[in-house]
Amino acid sequence: MSKVLIIEDEVAIAELEKDYLELSGFEVETESDGTVGLKRALSEEFDMYILDLMLPGIDGFEICRQIREEKNTPILMVSAKKDDIDKIRGLGLGADDYITKPFSPSELVARVKAHLARYERLIGSNMVENDIIEIRGIKIDKTARRVWVNGEEKQFTTKEFDLLTFLAENPNHVFTKEELFREIWDMESIGDIATVTVHIKKIREKVEMNTNKPQYIETIWGVGYRFKL
Ligand code: CA
Repeated sequence: MSKVLIIEDEVAIAELEKDYLELSGFEVETESDGTVGLKRALSEEFDMYILDLMLPGIDGFEICRQIREEKNTPILMVSAKKDDIDKIRGLGLGADDYITKPFSPSELVARVKAHLARYERLIGSNMVENDIIEIRGIKIDKTARRVWVNGEEKQFTTKEFDLLTFLAENPNHVFTKEELFREIWDMESIGDIATVTVHIKKIREKVEMNTNKPQYIETIWGVGYRFKL
Protein backbone atom coordinates (compact mmCIF):
# COMPACT_ATOMS: atom_id res chain seq x y z
CA MET A 1 0.00 0.00 0.00
CA SER A 2 1.39 3.41 -0.91
CA LYS A 3 2.05 5.70 2.01
CA VAL A 4 1.46 9.44 1.79
CA LEU A 5 2.62 12.13 4.21
CA ILE A 6 0.51 15.29 4.36
CA ILE A 7 2.05 18.33 6.04
CA GLU A 8 -0.78 20.79 6.49
CA ASP A 9 -1.66 23.05 9.42
CA GLU A 10 -5.33 23.57 8.55
CA VAL A 11 -6.83 20.55 10.23
CA ALA A 12 -10.04 20.56 8.14
CA ILE A 13 -8.05 20.44 4.90
CA ALA A 14 -5.66 17.80 6.19
CA GLU A 15 -8.59 15.63 7.25
CA LEU A 16 -10.35 16.06 3.93
CA GLU A 17 -7.22 15.07 2.00
CA LYS A 18 -6.63 12.15 4.32
CA ASP A 19 -10.21 10.85 4.01
CA TYR A 20 -10.23 10.92 0.24
CA LEU A 21 -6.82 9.35 -0.11
CA GLU A 22 -7.69 6.62 2.37
CA LEU A 23 -10.91 5.92 0.47
CA SER A 24 -8.73 5.44 -2.59
CA GLY A 25 -6.61 2.89 -0.79
CA PHE A 26 -3.67 4.96 0.41
CA GLU A 27 -2.14 4.88 3.85
CA VAL A 28 -1.99 8.46 5.07
CA GLU A 29 -0.11 10.22 7.84
CA THR A 30 -0.60 13.89 8.68
CA GLU A 31 1.54 16.46 10.45
CA SER A 32 0.54 20.06 11.16
CA ASP A 33 3.93 21.45 12.13
CA GLY A 34 6.61 22.11 9.53
CA THR A 35 9.56 21.17 11.71
CA VAL A 36 8.06 17.88 12.87
CA GLY A 37 6.77 17.14 9.38
CA LEU A 38 10.18 17.65 7.80
CA LYS A 39 11.82 15.42 10.38
CA ARG A 40 9.37 12.61 9.61
CA ALA A 41 9.64 13.21 5.87
CA LEU A 42 13.37 12.67 6.02
CA SER A 43 13.57 9.87 8.55
CA GLU A 44 10.63 7.69 7.43
CA GLU A 45 9.79 6.06 4.14
CA PHE A 46 6.87 7.57 2.22
CA ASP A 47 5.80 7.16 -1.39
CA MET A 48 4.52 10.71 -1.77
CA TYR A 49 4.52 14.02 0.06
CA ILE A 50 1.74 16.62 0.03
CA LEU A 51 3.01 19.92 1.38
CA ASP A 52 1.17 23.05 2.35
CA LEU A 53 3.25 26.21 1.92
CA MET A 54 2.52 28.33 4.97
CA LEU A 55 3.21 26.24 8.04
CA PRO A 56 4.28 26.86 11.61
CA GLY A 57 7.95 26.05 12.02
CA ILE A 58 9.61 25.34 8.68
CA ASP A 59 7.60 26.37 5.60
CA GLY A 60 6.69 24.21 2.61
CA PHE A 61 9.35 25.73 0.36
CA GLU A 62 12.13 24.69 2.70
CA ILE A 63 10.60 21.27 3.38
CA CYS A 64 10.41 20.65 -0.35
CA ARG A 65 14.02 21.73 -0.87
CA GLN A 66 15.31 19.50 1.92
CA ILE A 67 13.32 16.43 0.86
CA ARG A 68 14.57 16.85 -2.69
CA GLU A 69 18.18 16.96 -1.54
CA GLU A 70 17.79 13.43 -0.24
CA LYS A 71 14.95 11.75 -2.10
CA ASN A 72 13.27 11.52 -5.50
CA THR A 73 9.88 10.77 -3.97
CA PRO A 74 7.08 12.76 -5.67
CA ILE A 75 6.09 16.03 -3.98
CA LEU A 76 2.77 17.81 -4.48
CA MET A 77 2.65 21.39 -3.21
CA VAL A 78 -0.62 22.88 -2.04
CA SER A 79 -1.17 26.62 -1.92
CA ALA A 80 -3.96 29.09 -1.35
CA LYS A 81 -2.39 31.59 -3.69
CA LYS A 82 -1.79 31.35 -7.40
CA ASP A 83 1.25 33.59 -6.93
CA ASP A 84 2.87 31.00 -4.71
CA ILE A 85 2.84 28.51 -7.54
CA ASP A 86 4.86 30.88 -9.68
CA LYS A 87 7.21 31.25 -6.76
CA ILE A 88 7.61 27.48 -6.37
CA ARG A 89 8.40 27.16 -10.05
CA GLY A 90 10.77 30.11 -9.92
CA LEU A 91 12.70 28.69 -6.99
CA GLY A 92 13.27 25.39 -8.78
CA LEU A 93 12.65 23.41 -5.62
CA GLY A 94 12.00 20.19 -7.48
CA ALA A 95 8.31 19.83 -6.65
CA ASP A 96 6.52 17.52 -9.07
CA ASP A 97 3.17 19.26 -9.05
CA TYR A 98 1.17 22.14 -7.58
CA ILE A 99 -2.47 22.47 -6.67
CA THR A 100 -4.33 25.58 -5.48
CA LYS A 101 -6.88 25.74 -2.70
CA PRO A 102 -9.74 25.24 -2.93
CA PHE A 103 -9.36 22.05 -4.96
CA SER A 104 -11.71 19.16 -5.48
CA PRO A 105 -10.64 16.12 -3.49
CA SER A 106 -11.06 13.90 -6.53
CA GLU A 107 -8.58 16.05 -8.42
CA LEU A 108 -6.10 15.66 -5.60
CA VAL A 109 -6.55 11.88 -5.63
CA ALA A 110 -6.14 11.77 -9.41
CA ARG A 111 -2.90 13.71 -9.23
CA VAL A 112 -1.49 11.62 -6.40
CA LYS A 113 -2.29 8.46 -8.35
CA ALA A 114 -0.70 9.80 -11.52
CA HIS A 115 2.52 10.80 -9.75
CA LEU A 116 2.82 7.53 -7.91
CA ALA A 117 2.31 5.56 -11.11
CA ARG A 118 4.92 7.63 -12.91
CA TYR A 119 7.38 7.26 -10.04
CA GLU A 120 6.88 3.50 -9.85
CA ARG A 121 7.54 3.20 -13.59
CA LEU A 122 10.69 5.27 -13.12
CA ILE A 123 11.94 3.07 -10.30
CA GLY A 124 10.97 -0.06 -12.22
CA SER A 125 12.93 1.00 -15.27
CA ASN A 126 16.05 1.51 -13.15
CA MET A 127 15.87 -1.91 -11.61
CA VAL A 128 17.15 -3.87 -14.55
CA GLU A 129 18.07 -7.35 -13.45
CA ASN A 130 21.68 -8.37 -13.62
CA ASP A 131 22.74 -10.42 -16.60
CA ILE A 132 23.65 -13.81 -15.19
CA ILE A 133 25.04 -16.97 -16.79
CA GLU A 134 24.71 -20.19 -14.81
CA ILE A 135 26.29 -23.40 -16.02
CA ARG A 136 26.37 -26.23 -13.51
CA GLY A 137 28.37 -24.95 -10.51
CA ILE A 138 29.51 -21.73 -12.16
CA LYS A 139 27.58 -18.51 -11.83
CA ILE A 140 28.79 -15.45 -13.71
CA ASP A 141 27.18 -12.11 -13.01
CA LYS A 142 28.08 -10.14 -16.13
CA THR A 143 26.63 -6.91 -14.78
CA ALA A 144 28.54 -6.97 -11.50
CA ARG A 145 31.50 -8.82 -13.04
CA ARG A 146 31.54 -11.39 -10.25
CA VAL A 147 31.98 -15.14 -10.40
CA TRP A 148 30.96 -17.89 -8.00
CA VAL A 149 32.11 -21.48 -8.17
CA ASN A 150 29.88 -23.83 -6.18
CA GLY A 151 28.64 -20.87 -4.20
CA GLU A 152 32.08 -19.51 -3.40
CA GLU A 153 33.10 -16.22 -4.94
CA LYS A 154 36.38 -16.22 -6.88
CA GLN A 155 38.45 -13.25 -7.95
CA PHE A 156 39.25 -12.85 -11.64
CA THR A 157 41.33 -10.31 -13.48
CA THR A 158 39.60 -8.36 -16.24
CA LYS A 159 40.89 -10.54 -19.05
CA GLU A 160 40.31 -13.79 -17.17
CA PHE A 161 36.73 -12.68 -16.56
CA ASP A 162 36.24 -11.68 -20.21
CA LEU A 163 37.68 -14.95 -21.46
CA LEU A 164 35.65 -17.13 -19.10
CA THR A 165 32.47 -15.20 -19.91
CA PHE A 166 33.04 -15.41 -23.65
CA LEU A 167 33.56 -19.17 -23.51
CA ALA A 168 30.58 -19.69 -21.19
CA GLU A 169 28.35 -17.62 -23.47
CA ASN A 170 29.29 -19.83 -26.39
CA PRO A 171 29.26 -23.31 -24.87
CA ASN A 172 30.17 -26.34 -26.94
CA HIS A 173 31.84 -24.12 -29.49
CA VAL A 174 35.53 -24.76 -30.09
CA PHE A 175 37.61 -21.61 -30.41
CA THR A 176 41.21 -21.51 -31.56
CA LYS A 177 43.72 -19.59 -29.46
CA GLU A 178 43.94 -17.05 -32.29
CA GLU A 179 40.20 -16.51 -32.23
CA LEU A 180 40.18 -16.09 -28.47
CA PHE A 181 43.12 -13.72 -28.57
CA ARG A 182 41.38 -11.58 -31.18
CA GLU A 183 38.14 -11.67 -29.25
CA ILE A 184 39.47 -10.76 -25.81
CA TRP A 185 42.59 -8.76 -26.50
CA ASP A 186 42.54 -6.07 -29.11
CA MET A 187 44.91 -6.38 -32.01
CA GLU A 188 47.28 -3.72 -30.70
CA SER A 189 47.78 -5.34 -27.35
CA ILE A 190 51.15 -6.68 -26.44
CA GLY A 191 51.30 -10.42 -26.30
CA ASP A 192 50.47 -13.35 -28.44
CA ILE A 193 48.41 -16.48 -28.38
CA ALA A 194 50.53 -17.86 -25.52
CA THR A 195 48.71 -15.28 -23.38
CA VAL A 196 45.52 -17.26 -24.00
CA THR A 197 47.12 -20.45 -22.68
CA VAL A 198 48.31 -18.65 -19.54
CA HIS A 199 44.87 -17.20 -18.88
CA ILE A 200 43.09 -20.52 -19.45
CA LYS A 201 45.45 -22.07 -16.90
CA LYS A 202 44.64 -19.38 -14.35
CA ILE A 203 40.90 -19.67 -14.92
CA ARG A 204 41.07 -23.45 -14.49
CA GLU A 205 42.88 -23.06 -11.18
CA LYS A 206 39.87 -21.10 -9.96
CA VAL A 207 36.98 -23.05 -11.43
CA GLU A 208 38.13 -26.64 -11.79
CA MET A 209 38.19 -29.22 -9.02
CA ASN A 210 41.01 -30.99 -10.81
CA THR A 211 42.90 -28.95 -13.38
CA ASN A 212 44.19 -32.15 -14.99
CA LYS A 213 40.62 -33.24 -15.69
CA PRO A 214 38.79 -30.03 -16.55
CA GLN A 215 35.01 -30.19 -16.23
CA TYR A 216 34.36 -26.77 -17.70
CA ILE A 217 37.00 -25.61 -20.13
CA GLU A 218 38.23 -28.49 -22.25
CA THR A 219 41.33 -28.50 -24.38
CA ILE A 220 40.70 -29.74 -27.87
CA TRP A 221 44.15 -30.83 -28.89
CA GLY A 222 45.52 -29.14 -31.95
CA VAL A 223 42.49 -26.84 -32.16
CA GLY A 224 41.77 -24.79 -29.07
CA TYR A 225 39.29 -24.65 -26.21
CA ARG A 226 35.63 -25.29 -25.58
CA PHE A 227 33.34 -24.62 -22.66
CA LYS A 228 31.56 -27.87 -21.96
CA LEU A 229 27.85 -27.51 -21.36
CA1 CA B 1 -1.06 26.72 5.96
